[in-house]
Amino acid sequence: MSETVLLVGGGGREHAIARALAPDCDLYACASNRNPGIADLADGFETISETAADDIVAYAESVDATLAIVGPESGLAAGVSDALDDAGVYTFGPQAAEARIETDKAFQRRFMRDEEIPGNPDFATFDDMEAACDYIDDYDGDLAVKPAGLTGGKGVKVIGDQVTPEEAKEYLRDSDYERVVLEERLVGEEFTIQAFVANGEFRVSPAVQDHKRAYEGDEGPNTGGMGSYTDVTPSLPFMEDGDYDAAVEVIEAVVEAMPDYKGILYGQFMLTAEGPKVIEFNARFGDPEAMNTLPVLETPFLDVLVAAREGESLPGLDFAEKATVCKYAVPEGYPTDPTAGAKIEVEVDDDADALCFYASVDARDDGLYTTTSRSFAVVGVADSIAEAETLAEDALADAGDGFHIRHDIGTEALVQQRIDHMAALRG
Ligand code: AMP
Repeated sequence: MSETVLLVGGGGREHAIARALAPDCDLYACASNRNPGIADLADGFETISETAADDIVAYAESVDATLAIVGPESGLAAGVSDALDDAGVYTFGPQAAEARIETDKAFQRRFMRDEEIPGNPDFATFDDMEAACDYIDDYDGDLAVKPAGLTGGKGVKVIGDQVTPEEAKEYLRDSDYERVVLEERLVGEEFTIQAFVANGEFRVSPAVQDHKRAYEGDEGPNTGGMGSYTDVTPSLPFMEDGDYDAAVEVIEAVVEAMPDYKGILYGQFMLTAEGPKVIEFNARFGDPEAMNTLPVLETPFLDVLVAAREGESLPGLDFAEKATVCKYAVPEGYPTDPTAGAKIEVEVDDDADALCFYASVDARDDGLYTTTSRSFAVVGVADSIAEAETLAEDALADAGDGFHIRHDIGTEALVQQRIDHMAALRG
């Protein structure tokens, strides 16, 4: 039977999902922004908000969708998976109750504690910001201050790294957060493992390292992610034997404790001197990490979705033994004071040396222009991280002016810095 899949979301992540699915099914997509890369791959594209569950169900029914996948967390939080499942369209994405593992950081930490999931840092939750400030004063060590709800990765302040204790308290007092989580500051190197989950089973993909800070050398404000890399092995150069498997054990414990979970479970870890600890879980692919993972997935992604819906065992996943380097081009001034309107010269072309994925672009009569969000990403795929990095840079050289790019992502110098950092921490 041929499948008709509805994809919800219009960013770079969803462009990568569309590219992975389009050869094997009839694909329809909807998002609040029209992504020309997705629209080119799909049989239909409607401009519908990712959180408008009823409108999304109506669109799914109008195209006779047999499957759906929700890209962004906003849709999961709004119950889009619940609504599509209720309408009889199996959706690869958790229902709102399971998505709380991402959408409510207080729930996430308590769930980890109650279910004895390994890797949970010391934490406390507060509804009262003055009580949170007292906790900062009394705590012996640095803390990460996190609003419990969704902030696109931009609401976290880490004492001892980005802010002083006094600045953290001022941040809490000035905020209108209803609940915050204060947790032990973890020191080490971050990495992500994305698992494909359904029917109480999971399959993992290679570890990815994202770069959240806006500027080179990991300076500046946090962003949605400026770029990311993977190695030819499932592990990363700064990891030792056993680190990847220890993180997979954390994912396994979550899947066991949440038997109804379906979709992507994204574990974000800090590799500390004591091994991997959990920074957070996300209930969907990462953006940019999806753009590293899906291009090297050799098993048809559609087979995973169909097996999930049919209640069958998930297929084993094959990944090409290639390194990938993904670099985002963002508007100048992003994220604090972005300037829109720069012309984008790079084109999506699967025969090019590097892949291109559009994120937020403004399609005008004479071409594509930047908005105030991340614009597009290029992904080099090669036999080493260094070669993949060169391919990504070559593609960016012709992309136009008016962008900010972290040219250090995936360079030998930065990768070596990560290795040295972990070696120093491990002593
Ligand atoms: P999150 O929204 O939880 O992914 O946090 C955003 C960023 O804040 C992460 O990518 C980390 O760099 C940092 N962060 C979050 N929690 C901690 C922690 N407990 N210790 C150190 N850094 C953290």
